[in-house]
Amino acid sequence: MTRAQAFSWFARAVFALSFFVPLHEAVQAKETFRLSLPVDCKLGQDCFVQNYVDLDPEPGVLDAACGAAAYDGHKGTDFRVLNTKATANVLAAAAGIVRGVRNDMADRLVQTEKDRADIVGRECGNGVVLVHEDGWETQYCHLQKGSVAVQPGDKVARGQKLGRIGYSGLAAFAHVHLSVRKDGAVFDPFLGRSPSAEFQDACAAAGPVQETSLWQAEAGDLLKDAAGSLIELGFASGPVSTGELERGTVSQPSASADALVFFARAINLRKGDRLVLKVEGPDGEFAASSGKPMEKTKAQWVAFSGRKLREKRWQAGTYQGEAVLVRNGKAASRETARFVLD
Ligand SMILES: [Zn+2]
Repeated sequence: MTRAQAFSWFARAVFALSFFVPLHEAVQAKETFRLSLPVDCKLGQDCFVQNYVDLDPEPGVLDAACGAAAYDGHKGTDFRVLNTKATANVLAAAAGIVRGVRNDMADRLVQTEKDRADIVGRECGNGVVLVHEDGWETQYCHLQKGSVAVQPGDKVARGQKLGRIGYSGLAAFAHVHLSVRKDGAVFDPFLGRSPSAEFQDACAAAGPVQETSLWQAEAGDLLKDAAGSLIELGFASGPVSTGELERGTVSQPSASADALVFFARAINLRKGDRLVLKVEGPDGEFAASSGKPMEKTKAQWVAFSGRKLREKRWQAGTYQGEAVLVRNGKAASRETARFVLD
């Protein structure tokens, strides 16, 4: 059957159907609402899910995997890039019509109460709201100033570029926040449901609950980051702060740096998790640390291991660091990084 034939068959079928069944039943015969990735980047490599929807309707935090990779009252999913020097295109997660845009707010990481106060009522920053069929709505927040590429009333296709990842509005790191709403209510795209006490009870009773994801098949492993991920490894001339990492201002050590440190950065850690580091230098074993267990859930953690300079300069050659995220005594993930000193 050609496409035209298929279409005319489909049109006839819908037409015939509409004679016999009420309209809302005919509508149900349409394809289910599905979301594709809202970002054009490689998940697990260039971008990561930092926060999920908080499914606990009361104070407290609960993500779709019955963990705590969210914060209280979080109404969407945060797709982050490593730092403010990185970005990626933000894409329409489904075909729809643009209901509203904002494009003129500065990209500025929120750190103080004053920063927060300055953006009250504009927490989304630069953003786009799309309306879809059947009461579905998606919203994309914290886009780069001036990057919004659509206008209210525009019809957009699935995967069409809406703008670029930035850090405008209430953003403590560079990311796009995707909100999904059904008839105005917060909706979790992983579970296909709104926050509820029932889900909380189900988690308490039996652990993770399988529900109907709104993601298209290829986006199904999006929930992986909820279980903790090593997102960045590197070498520096001393301990680095998360602030420096969020800004991408960490530089590699010189041959005469006061210290030579390997660092590993992880997100969505659970109580009891450890980051174990091992560093090999040109002469073999250089540094190691077994890491202390997290006392509670951590959205982000940076671990270090290194040495202070005691000679004139660091030995030239290759330095290799390995980081292992240890959970319940087992390696949950393992990554390595290399650095060559001339
Ligand atoms: Zn968010």
